[in-house]
Amino acid sequence: MAELTPMMQKYVETKQEYKDCILFYRLGDFYEMFFEDALTASKELEITLTGKDCGLEERAPMCGIPYHAVDTYLNRLVSKGYKVAICEQVEDPKMAKGLVKREVVRIVTPGTNLNTQALDATKNNYLMCVVCVENQYGLSIADITTGDFFVTEVDTDRKLMDEITKFSPSEIICNDSFYVSSIDIEDLKNRLGIAVYSLEAWYFDDDLCKRALKDHFEVKSLEGLGISDYNCGVIASGAMLQYLTETQKTSLANLTHLTPYATGRYMIIDSSTRRNLELCETLREKQKRGSLLWVLDKTKTAMGARMLRSFIEQPLIDRQEIERRLQAVEELTENAIAREEIREYLNPVYDLERLISKISYQSASPRDLISFKNSLAMIPPVKYIMKGFEAPLLKEIEADIDELADICSLIGNSIVDEPPLTIKEGGIIREGYNEEIDKLRNAKTEGKNWLAQLEAEEREKTGIKSMKVKFNKVFGYYLEVTNSFKDKVPDYYTRKQTLTNAERYITPKLKELEDMILGAEDKLFALEYDMFAQVRDTIAKEVLRIQTTAKALAGIDVFASMALVAERNHYVRPSINEKGLIDIKNGRHPVVEKMISNDMFIANDTFLDNGKNRISIITGPNMAGKSTYMRQTALIVLMAQIGCFVPASGARIGIVDRIFTRVGASDDLASGQSTFMVEMTEVANILRNATANSLLVLDEIGRGTSTFDGLSIAWAVVEHISNPKLLGAKTLFATHYHELTELEGKLDNVNNYCIAVKEKGDDIVFLRKIVKGGADKSYGIQVAKLAGVPDSVITRAKELVEELSDADITIKAREVEAAGSGSRKARPKKYDQLDLEQITLSATVNETDIIQEIKEIDIGTMTPVDALNTLYRLQNKL
Ligand code: ADP
Repeated sequence: MAELTPMMQKYVETKQEYKDCILFYRLGDFYEMFFEDALTASKELEITLTGKDCGLEERAPMCGIPYHAVDTYLNRLVSKGYKVAICEQVEDPKMAKGLVKREVVRIVTPGTNLNTQALDATKNNYLMCVVCVENQYGLSIADITTGDFFVTEVDTDRKLMDEITKFSPSEIICNDSFYVSSIDIEDLKNRLGIAVYSLEAWYFDDDLCKRALKDHFEVKSLEGLGISDYNCGVIASGAMLQYLTETQKTSLANLTHLTPYATGRYMIIDSSTRRNLELCETLREKQKRGSLLWVLDKTKTAMGARMLRSFIEQPLIDRQEIERRLQAVEELTENAIAREEIREYLNPVYDLERLISKISYQSASPRDLISFKNSLAMIPPVKYIMKGFEAPLLKEIEADIDELADICSLIGNSIVDEPPLTIKEGGIIREGYNEEIDKLRNAKTEGKNWLAQLEAEEREKTGIKSMKVKFNKVFGYYLEVTNSFKDKVPDYYTRKQTLTNAERYITPKLKELEDMILGAEDKLFALEYDMFAQVRDTIAKEVLRIQTTAKALAGIDVFASMALVAERNHYVRPSINEKGLIDIKNGRHPVVEKMISNDMFIANDTFLDNGKNRISIITGPNMAGKSTYMRQTALIVLMAQIGCFVPASGARIGIVDRIFTRVGASDDLASGQSTFMVEMTEVANILRNATANSLLVLDEIGRGTSTFDGLSIAWAVVEHISNPKLLGAKTLFATHYHELTELEGKLDNVNNYCIAVKEKGDDIVFLRKIVKGGADKSYGIQVAKLAGVPDSVITRAKELVEELSDADITIKAREVEAAGSGSRKARPKKYDQLDLEQITLSATVNETDIIQEIKEIDIGTMTPVDALNTLYRLQNKL
């Protein structure tokens, strides 16, 4: 350390305090990085690595970025999960005695990035704090760019994971116990792209957390915040506040309230169901296009887009709340003119939530204030139109809208319409707002007159007609005389500069004028900046009113969007019941119908209830439309529960508490588990966590193993679900095992449906219509043909089907009989889709097993009854 140059010593000291960050160290016009940081940054940012003499034998690795490009580089590092500490020069280098004083002014992390250019406007950028205390989790979630701040508690790892996938934060901060939970942290980091940091223990100190909350919200007790029941939640939100204070180093004035929520208020959707139903992004491309959000989002503002997303992520389960939303949407569908007018006014409205956050973090520019004002100007007409609405929810929204006229006129009176980008070079404050500013500006224009006067006088005195007063940044004001007149220049002129064809001079009088003019300018710029900052601070004080209004505008934007989508796509208002009846007439898949060409989508009915229609077994060939049908039912129920109209000609929707899906091949293969293992884990989750009020969508359960194991598992799963004492959830169950259609006769709440196809010679035509009854054929070969499998393979497959169905059916049938017992026995009559490997091996495997068993019998210790029993068992296996 002692060998380091003084500057580098200081650097190393600062770096010690911010070990887990990349330190951006301001040196003049650059932010420099050294040592390890330089190696990392040069690699991640693809910038040149150089070296700096630092007093040690070897040069210190160094790389740098120009200060004006800092945002781009910063965002790149932060989006890769790094924390960056920004160390600025906090005194004017010209004034500094010795080393310039430097301080870390802010730490930027993935969850605390305020740079809106780096963020998706339609998505919140959440930071989540997870505190694990003895099997109880406290969670707090904040978006410092909008001021949203929530707290809750959950009691299992699974529920915690559900909350994580619901909010999909960009960063999680936690205590060490989080690492011993069953949550796969590497998966969070790698697959979900969430940065995870564990914080030092003091952040979670009970007293410190409580004090942080009380201080921030200026309350005497936590009761006032309505969170005193959340022990872990209090710690999570207190730790969150401390972390934010540490990183932002400002007052966090935009976090105006902490909203406690119970996870039980919303429909539970686990992470795989969220992905499978493609609510906000598609399963494969992870993009919005093709998701439910894509169809529903016709919002005009970023605030509305974010609110709609959160609606989709958290469907309601309370009938009244759902009805209130439906009523609002209905009124807006009936009153299309008012709705469209409102949407017009919302069109130019900027992201008020993020703007007010910028304002309260003092990072808003004069241009931001003008955008803010222009947006505010749209509010009164919106409020006025809304006064005509009847729906209680719309009335509440109207009441929450504050016209903010005071703020609008404050900005209007103080800031010019087109302020410059820079904030320290004047031109910001409107004339007439501040007397002193006007005076100083006058001095500037007056100055021009003074100069013109001086120019005229000097020309007169010297007789040099072409003499001009000019200005440049280096020399200030000067008199320029061309070479042909330089002999006429009087003694009191002092030469400043010689050019090839002219000379530049100053005079004492000119210098005096210059001091007055430039002094006025410096003062003016400083005063303009002060005034601007004052205006900004005055607005910042109104953060609560502005946030409430912003949320209200988001609300009307969302409901107007829902109404517009309902109208355009011919959705209907669902009627909501609590009897568990799901009766959908001519339902459509909201996304698939948009993806295929005009009106080609075939609508289908769904009928499920708590009586004889709990489970629908759906058969039909691949590609017939089974999974589309099942997903469409789940999506219609979900849409109804967010308060949205639904794609159907009529719908009665019984509120469900959870939707579970087990659909197709999982994308979890990357996590290293076999497909079958993933499938069974999901089945286990569903059977353990579903209730009689849940909706289950199960697609091809048991496919990842041998036919008989798979069939047996599927069979047992249906039996379990159908039994109201065990589960009794409403279920759509698609399967290739036609044997399962036998359950219709055996269990009184199971019904068979199939998706119709028509045979046309050797080919099939998909009719996409769901009809009562089971399919009797799989048409696997026809579908393979449609998919373009070569003719030679198709012909050979047909031969094999014929051969196999004659030869080995008997063996298979016996095996299934042996596997089942009593009434649970699966008795396949006919095998359309043959598991070739299974069939050819089945005979030999059985015999080898038996021979092995005989070999292992210890005859010496057997009683005659034992022997008889063993013989009986062995014979049964054949
Ligand atoms: P399965 O699950 O039976 O293999 P899918 O549900 O994946 O079949 O459907 C296959 C394709 O058929 C879908 O991608 C979709 O384009 C089309 N499709 C499904 N259902 C319908 C429908 N009701 N109307 C029109 N096209 C449909």
